[in-house]
Amino acid sequence: MKIQFIGATHEVTGSCTYLEINQFRILVDFGMEQGRDMYENAQIPCAPAQIDYVLLTHAHIDHSGLLPLLYAGGFHGEIHTTDVTVSLCSIMLRDSAHIQEFEASWRNRKAERKGEEPYVPLYTMEDAVGAISQLRPHKYEEKFQLCEGVEVRFIDAGHLLGSASIEIWATEGSETRKLVFSGDIGNLNQPLIRDPQYIDEADYVIMESTYGDRKHERPKDYVTAFAQVIQQTFDRGGSVIIPSFAVGRTQELLYFLRQIKERKLIKNYPDFPVFMDSPLAIEATSIFMRNQNSCYDEEALSYVRQGINPLTFPDLILATTPEESRAINFDKRRKIIISASGMCEAGRIKHHLKHNLWQSQNTILFVGYQAYGTLGRSLVEGADSVKLFGETVQVAAEIRQLAGISGHADVDGLTTWISHIQNPKRVFVIHGENSVMEHFVAHLQNDLKLKAYAPYSGTEFDPISDQILIEAVPKPIMKNKAGSKANTVYHRLLAALERLTGLIRRSEGRTNKDLARLTDQINQICNKWEK
Ligand SMILES: [Zn+2]
Repeated sequence: MKIQFIGATHEVTGSCTYLEINQFRILVDFGMEQGRDMYENAQIPCAPAQIDYVLLTHAHIDHSGLLPLLYAGGFHGEIHTTDVTVSLCSIMLRDSAHIQEFEASWRNRKAERKGEEPYVPLYTMEDAVGAISQLRPHKYEEKFQLCEGVEVRFIDAGHLLGSASIEIWATEGSETRKLVFSGDIGNLNQPLIRDPQYIDEADYVIMESTYGDRKHERPKDYVTAFAQVIQQTFDRGGSVIIPSFAVGRTQELLYFLRQIKERKLIKNYPDFPVFMDSPLAIEATSIFMRNQNSCYDEEALSYVRQGINPLTFPDLILATTPEESRAINFDKRRKIIISASGMCEAGRIKHHLKHNLWQSQNTILFVGYQAYGTLGRSLVEGADSVKLFGETVQVAAEIRQLAGISGHADVDGLTTWISHIQNPKRVFVIHGENSVMEHFVAHLQNDLKLKAYAPYSGTEFDPISDQILIEAVPKPIMKNKAGSKANTVYHRLLAALERLTGLIRRSEGRTNKDLARLTDQINQICNKWEK
């Protein structure tokens, strides 16, 4: 039995852990890295085609975003997750493929003009559709047998609609170990969705630590604080631009805005329009509405019982087509624009920033986590100007952050979550920035007397013998994002090599005619590329 830590080790994005149980190869999450990459990740120690199963905690791209790449590399096994995550991934992975293809064609137009090499998208729509076809839905709390020696159960993590912690009962011979992956742990009293459920026992816990060094401010009334930002901006003649994650945060904002409208909290502009400018957010909102009975918390359900849809209100305008999106810029009313992506790295929000960032009457309101190295993080940290579509844009608008709404538990929430698990043998801490992790590991060791450890990518652990087999050292990289993407394309090539090696090994015993043909074909490829 083996656990190998691959991604989100001393980092916040790119979640991925590799397991070997009873000869089966299993990945838990395969997420995309977002923002600046700090450490080189170890490669998954086999070709994608040799992975038997994937278990997925939730739909966020930093947990699911590389599944199409895995499919493109030859993985055609099952991806098990909750039923709502299947619905959300079906739209999010398509959206991610669309972004990859769109960025590639945009870069290629520039590259062509400069006579540079063409840019290859990380994966295509076909790869995304392929990965989606492998998703297998489960209900929360339903224990099922994944394969011989491996039983699995998904528990509500209260972080996003459909999000789960994963319990794994792993048996080899007469030895069974229970592994628990926390996934992203939700915040208590998050709007709309239920609080995280707790787990009582585990031998080994692999847990997130995003906010492991801080306590969330809890404003008495989030709705009032939000309304104040809107009122101040409208009073000086501006609009409020909100970069927001299309899935999760956007629906929470709609939930609050409906209450602001209902309680008539904005003076002089009661009919202000709210533009939801994100096809993904629009589709995600309808998935939320379809799953209200199984996923909403008591407060949200009480609206539903009164016949109120808590996610919609008059003056909410949905922009689906690019024309509808562009038309927002010509609407001269004071307004709210909610658009993705949440860290301003891609999508329509970049256009809205270009149009609004340089005007001092506007407010850019951040409502979510901004990873290191993203455009959102530079704005929050006070950049005077930023680059958008190759153009320098001055930052004159007011930049604000609305604290107190977070999809992640703070240090108290994480502590409560881990405290429910009786005497785990070890706790592996992942999914946090370096300094945060150090702080959280020390807290687990000193205050909770747990055997806690933050592994670097490549670290291997044997749950049967309770031994760390390989203790990996950090491999820092300071490349920019484009560099790391090019790197990923090279990694695809390396994965193809692994696949070829496996194919050759398995070819022993085939007819001499087949072997000779394969040899000729490989030599032809080498001849072509060595020229
Ligand atoms: Zn998440």
